Amino acid sequence: MASKKRRTEAERSHILAEARRERERKLKSYRERALRMFPWVCAHCGREFSGKRLRELTVHHKDHDHDNNPLDGSNWELLCIYCHDYEHSKYLEEEWHDQAPGGGEQEPPATYRPFAGLDDLLKDKK
Ligand SMILES: [Zn+2]
Ligand SMILES: [Zn+2]
Repeated sequence: MASKKRRTEAERSHILAEARRERERKLKSYRERALRMFPWVCAHCGREFSGKRLRELTVHHKDHDHDNNPLDGSNWELLCIYCHDYEHSKYLEEEWHDQAPGGGEQEPPATYRPFAGLDDLLKDKK
């Protein structure tokens, strides 16, 4: 009786492997598409790539959303791994700066009362 649909470890890992393969396939397909669409040149530093070194040319998503892959390539940019790294660190930094408090317009924290609750504590101890 196989009425209980409990997944075995083998099934689970099979599903995981499938998902991973699917993701890799997708990744590969948009990269290949981008490489067919654009000249093999880093959009930032202008280095040219060919042959084995083409591996160093990566597809950057302009809006940083890897699931946004319009077929006209409008969200893609070919960047060498170095410029790609830089592009992302820059982005992270900007994000970080946005989150940093600025202007001092924030509400001051609720007045700190170091002895709040002390009365209650004392009351409990009879
Ligand atoms: Zn570059
Ligand atoms: Zn990127």
